[in-house]
Amino acid sequence: MLIVMQKSATEEQIAAVAEQIISLGMRAEVLPGSLRTAIGVMGNTGYVDADQVLLMPGVKEIIHVSKPYKLVSREWRPEDTVVRVGRTEIGGDRPFAVIAGPCSVESEEQALSCAREVKRLGAALFRGGIFKPRTTPYAFRGLGEAGAGILNQVRGSVGLPVVTEVMHVSNLDLVASCADMLQIGTRNMQNCDLLLEAAKTGMPILLKRGMSALLEEFLLAAEYILDAGNGNVVLCERGIRTFETSTRNTLDLNSVALARELSHLPVIVDPSHGTGRASLVKPLSLAARAAGAVGVMVEVHPEPQKALSDGQQSLDFAGFAELAAALSL
Ligand code: PEP
Ligand code: MN
Repeated sequence: MLIVMQKSATEEQIAAVAEQIISLGMRAEVLPGSLRTAIGVMGNTGYVDADQVLLMPGVKEIIHVSKPYKLVSREWRPEDTVVRVGRTEIGGDRPFAVIAGPCSVESEEQALSCAREVKRLGAALFRGGIFKPRTTPYAFRGLGEAGAGILNQVRGSVGLPVVTEVMHVSNLDLVASCADMLQIGTRNMQNCDLLLEAAKTGMPILLKRGMSALLEEFLLAAEYILDAGNGNVVLCERGIRTFETSTRNTLDLNSVALARELSHLPVIVDPSHGTGRASLVKPLSLAARAAGAVGVMVEVHPEPQKALSDGQQSLDFAGFAELAAALSL
């Protein structure tokens, strides 16, 4: 439930309403906004009879949030959320954010050369996994701890903020020590323990959509993080499983546009995993932007044909330069 205050409501009136909610055994969160101040009511297990509150001075209206998620909803917060990662800001009217780098960090030389090149061409963030969720146990699963120092060199010597995946709570401290943003991958979207522990770090979180998750389930996963007190979440559409097999996944741009309607959180798109084909990354990046995405995350490798993971969908430097030009970075 959301109590919307009149524009002219005084601080005392807002405080009185919040106190009243607390006295009814619920939690109240004051949500100041440029258009209005609202008070979010949490901890209610069912419908709350709001008549009493509606009569209090300064109260304009009461909105019963109709969705199973609250904190991530536009009803809760009409303005776009902007998430800060290092000195980059993602969302709202901020410049379109391009996150680029290899699927996996493979070596110092590979990661640093890639970071320098994508930075030169306008990327705002570097990506690169050191813990890799792979479909087969026989594939390269990342450098692990040995990759952390390399990511810190990207941050320090190249000067790009880093997003990298955390797969398990036991690695959270290590990953947090070499990243500016934590990535939670498609396979872990509903790993509630990981969501909660990652949220507690207070770091910005890039939450990827589960490959078979409904949009509603995706938003509810984000709700876990916000409910744990961390509002710095960027949603990432990365393609879903459909009957179509000619591409790795089906990039669900419907959900990008709809997520922007339903939620105030920034939405970005990963056309690399979304299509599985390097040749489709540029057109789908442009389509993502047209659909309302505030950024893209793309895989870039100095020599895609030699990549230890996802070479087929990785851009080489020339391909990334072309993408950067198409996006006018
Ligand atoms: C990745 O970004 O490298 C990755 C593994 O993505 P996803 O979790 O979307 O498959
Ligand atoms: Mn990958």
